[in-house]
Amino acid sequence: MNLLITGASRGLGYEMAAAALERGHSVIAGTRSLDVKSSKLSLLEDKYGPRLHIVPLDVTDEQGIASLASILNKEGTKLGAIVNNAGILTARSTPIEELDMQQVAKTFEVNLYGPMRVLKHFLPLMTETDAAIINISSEAGSISNAYPGDYPYAISKSALNMFTAQLRSLLKDQDIQVLSVHPGWMKTDMGGEDAPTSAGESAAGILDLIERKVVPKTKFNFVDYSGNEMPI
Ligand code: NDP
Repeated sequence: MNLLITGASRGLGYEMAAAALERGHSVIAGTRSLDVKSSKLSLLEDKYGPRLHIVPLDVTDEQGIASLASILNKEGTKLGAIVNNAGILTARSTPIEELDMQQVAKTFEVNLYGPMRVLKHFLPLMTETDAAIINISSEAGSISNAYPGDYPYAISKSALNMFTAQLRSLLKDQDIQVLSVHPGWMKTDMGGEDAPTSAGESAAGILDLIERKVVPKTKFNFVDYSGNEMPI
């Protein structure tokens, strides 16, 4: 399978790329900056050769996304999975009275409009059997567990879950699995050192879902990385 993964420079995105390559898949690894060529992602390139294709992909840059999709399309690329992983957490713990609306907008640009832009341009490249669209969400986006904090992050993930539901409805007659996935509280730059889950463990679980080794236990479309239902 050929997977497109956004935000593959570090954290969960990097671990997903590494695990997918290890399992024999091909990966188109989207990174904001190609400086990453001198980073650990390029070590994967040394190990796996042409099965890894590192591409410039800033999810806020629609023109860049459109031209990448067009180039890949012309090359005849077909995608078995799109993993919308890139995300940012801003204004953490900022009270509503002090919220900077530019930060709110920036968060939506990445966490919500990013996956929308990616799907807008890459959906036509998807194969129609055994395929998967995975939007990396967060438990912070559960409306039923809403807490008064992380406003832009939580609201953007909640809206992302709605987008997932809409895609699922759009694609219901095709063999494309569409899920929002809470990856767990992970030890990454975003999750911090105290997190109980490694990004590698989460990546393995999400790959099991993509490969349909694990069937999601949900009537809806929001699960954790083990496939267990998350509250909407
Ligand atoms: P990190 O902060 O460790 O990594 C974020 C990744 O997103 C980096 O690769 C970063 O690239 C990339 N990114 C940020 N902005 C953009 C952009 N505009 N275009 C393209 N890529 C971008 O995050 P995690 O790995 O921890 O998180 C991955 C996903 O999991 C996110 O969607 C997050 O919301 C979600 N999540 C994480 C949790 C956790 O505990 N860590 C808990 C719940 C959900 P660069 O290196 O260029 O900055």
